[in-house]
Amino acid sequence: MDCIFCKIAKGDIKSTVIFENNDFKVILDVNPANIGHCLVVCKNHYENIIDMPEELVKEGFAIAKKIAAAVKKATDCDGVNILQNNGIAAGQTVFHFHIHIIPRFDGDSVDVKFGNLNKSIEEISAVADDIVKNM
Ligand code: AMP
Ligand code: ZN
Repeated sequence: MDCIFCKIAKGDIKSTVIFENNDFKVILDVNPANIGHCLVVCKNHYENIIDMPEELVKEGFAIAKKIAAAVKKATDCDGVNILQNNGIAAGQTVFHFHIHIIPRFDGDSVDVKFGNLNKSIEEISAVADDIVKNM
């Protein structure tokens, strides 16, 4: 399979490695939103969080927490975004599970905004039962 993160996980493509264990490799993003932007990359190929075993998801986010703390100290940033995109509509461009850790600085130009849907409380709430039924 021609997957860039599988190649990075195997070491076939060079990356700047911050941390590695049996299941994950943490690397620097080559096109960072800010200096210090890291990616927690699963070593096995899962396209997205929905396809992944829960234990691995837990481990990935536990690693993301540790990396976020280290990134915060290293960059002296004012905040950190932890993002994980699933599907083209959500902005995913590499279809191999990864978690973004993005240091944020007051007034920086990174654009992570939502909340402009402008719907009534009835429209917002209508989906709740469907989500519950599908759990
Ligand atoms: P996403 O849009 O969530 O799929 O994020 C994919 C991320 O992978 C982007 O932020 C890219 O800059 C990053 N990326 C793509 N190729 C590489 C690479 N060879 N090494 C490190 N990061 C990469
Ligand atoms: Zn892959």
